[in-house]
Amino acid sequence: MAWAAALMAAAVFSAAQAADYAGPLFDTHLHYNQEAWDGTAGPYPPAEALARMQRNGVKAIIANSRPNAGTQTLAAARETREAGVTVVPFVRLYRNRDDYNNWFRDESIHDMVQSELARGTAGGPYRGLGEFHLYDSANANGPVARKLIVLAEQKKLAVLAHVDDTAIDVLMAHAPSKGQSLRLIWAHTGIGGPPVARVQALLERYPLLMGELSYRPGLTCEGGMLCPEWRALILKHPDRFVVGSDTWVNQRWSAYDEIMGGYRRWLGELPPEVAQRIAWGNAAGLFGLR
Ligand SMILES: [Zn+2]
Repeated sequence: MAWAAALMAAAVFSAAQAADYAGPLFDTHLHYNQEAWDGTAGPYPPAEALARMQRNGVKAIIANSRPNAGTQTLAAARETREAGVTVVPFVRLYRNRDDYNNWFRDESIHDMVQSELARGTAGGPYRGLGEFHLYDSANANGPVARKLIVLAEQKKLAVLAHVDDTAIDVLMAHAPSKGQSLRLIWAHTGIGGPPVARVQALLERYPLLMGELSYRPGLTCEGGMLCPEWRALILKHPDRFVVGSDTWVNQRWSAYDEIMGGYRRWLGELPPEVAQRIAWGNAAGLFGLR
């Protein structure tokens, strides 16, 4: 039947169109938390974690962990070097789960950040702060939140922030440059799903704002492909988006292959040079990797 033949031809054509992106990935939202590996026990010792990155073509990671010992371990591990993974370490603001809701006003967090920055990692100095969370944007005005934003801009540290769109404006306002030279990676590009037009306005207001796309509501549609308005935004600002796994719980480590496969699928639908930027180039450029 003609319609069946046409459908098949269309399916073959779209399959051919949508070859997965096959180049390197930069995982810009990776946690190596205590429950994954505490230094002696856990389901994802360095060899396991690195095997997941390696088989998914992940060549660099923004590593952060609760507590920071996990990042220190990854940065020092022989397995990391053997897997050819570059670790870009960030200082996590949390020693434990209680810190999630208090870091922005807790001076002992500010002290902890200073001592971590002074200590660095076996893989080199810390390059950023975060991930941190603000479940209420008003807490972006907390005294420690303000100080850390100033510190980040002065020391050219990036920040990885899980915040809403209102808090983006507040945090940027605390930066000495008023947001013109603060490198802020917006975790999930707003997990509450602010409209695409609002995301676009923020990108256009703050030149170093980057959107990380894990868990982003409304990003993908049928077949795991980009929804039309997101595809349009990404094509308009191909230099402003990055991808990440967000291994915040062990389930995300067990799903690591599917998460990265999902990115490769929709990246494959973009023009190759745009896919390469989002998969690798934008983050690599931010941290001076080749
Ligand atoms: Zn996270």
